[in-house]
Amino acid sequence: MKDRIGFIGLGAMGKPMALCLVRADYPVTVTWHRNRAPAEELEKAGAQVVPDVVSVAAVSDVVITILPADREILEVYHGGLLDGLKKGGICIEMTSALPSTVKIVEQEALSRGIGLLDAPVSGGVARAAEGSLTIMVGGSKELFDQCHPILQAMGKTIFYTGEAGNGKSVKMINQLLNAGNTVIASEAVYLARRMGLDLDLMCKVINESSGGSWIFANNVPKSIIPENFKPGFRLELMKKDLDLSLEYARREGIVLPAMDLVSEICQAMINQGHGGEYYTIVSQWIKQQNRRE
Ligand code: NDP
Repeated sequence: MKDRIGFIGLGAMGKPMALCLVRADYPVTVTWHRNRAPAEELEKAGAQVVPDVVSVAAVSDVVITILPADREILEVYHGGLLDGLKKGGICIEMTSALPSTVKIVEQEALSRGIGLLDAPVSGGVARAAEGSLTIMVGGSKELFDQCHPILQAMGKTIFYTGEAGNGKSVKMINQLLNAGNTVIASEAVYLARRMGLDLDLMCKVINESSGGSWIFANNVPKSIIPENFKPGFRLELMKKDLDLSLEYARREGIVLPAMDLVSEICQAMINQGHGGEYYTIVSQWIKQQNRRE
């Protein structure tokens, strides 16, 4: 019989991921936080809706969480999830957050006889909807093998990264590269535009050359060149992810000067009211810096 799955955090990512589990015939139970609409949509698709986190835990073998950040993880795990799950239950924590937070929660879970996997994701809303996310998983290998079919219902490329916390750490490194690449790609596109180059052709050449990257193959032609900042991964979430790396580095006495600057650029655009927009909006900051009087 399939595991009964509880799902907490039906946001831009969580709702489509939960729908993938329903489509894969898992019995799914959800709740709502402030916004009830995603839970109602899940209900129409076949999920059960219950009034709170404790009730989700009470009817689930495995509970998946994907929340904004560390504070919300602690609110949910301490606010009924760990108390509500039965011994032998499993949590899969998929938020992009600090490794130290998931390690704390893992220890609390283990002391109650509950297993925990750390499993943040990459791929965005479109890949969440098609169940083709990249998932980076930390925790016991036995638990990873046990939960693999559940992860496969949401992801296409699933990596085992070792102990709990390593998933979050790898995700932090990915986001640092993502944000840094985006800022430098924005400068490159701005310069190429000012040189009068054919930007589509420039893009093709770069993607066959050593300067190419995922950002240059995807976000540059789809968003940065056409200045199309349609809804997607929000700048404020990217800034949060960057700050996880910077916070970790600060605690360890590591300096990351280039990333400090990228973080400042993100903050400058958030201060202008762009935090809710697609994070490639940072390309407009480069344009602002070069505005001719
Ligand atoms: P959203 O802000 O869209 O969703 C967050 C969800 O968590 C909402 O359903 C919200 O409910 C719920 N929530 C917030 N606080 C609580 C709480 N205290 N208790 C219970 N539920 C709560 O975020 P995303 O889905 O975009 O992102 C989730 C995570 O995934 C983040 O860590 C993000 O960095 C990461 N991520 C996001 C990607 C993206 O493209 N968006 C891509 C890859 C990773 P309510 O709205 O009702 O408050």
